[in-house]
Amino acid sequence: MEFADLVQAEQAGGADAETLGLLLAGLAGLLLFCAFRPGITAAVAEPAMWIVSLILVAVACLMLLARHIWMGRYKEERERRRSEALSQARCAYCGGQNAPGTKKCAFCGAPLR
Ligand SMILES: [Zn+2]
Repeated sequence: MEFADLVQAEQAGGADAETLGLLLAGLAGLLLFCAFRPGITAAVAEPAMWIVSLILVAVACLMLLARHIWMGRYKEERERRRSEALSQARCAYCGGQNAPGTKKCAFCGAPLR
């Protein structure tokens, strides 16, 4: 894979991941609001509403947890890809660090993988 493609794919994936993460956090916040705000007033009249509120809180917490885990994985993946691209640009003969995407070592002229 060319480095430019890699960067493009990474940026596209990153934008998606961040948008989705934000969406998850927003939805979880909305659920929490729905759980507490009308839940408390409803619970006074109807005690069974506490169960609905508790379920909403549990779902919101699960969403936030999923987002946390998922964003962590996404960051790990991004870091792994970056170091992979850098190691591919390292010359196997002289150890020189070349710019990612170059075909020949700038220091000794050996072909890069
Ligand atoms: Zn070299």
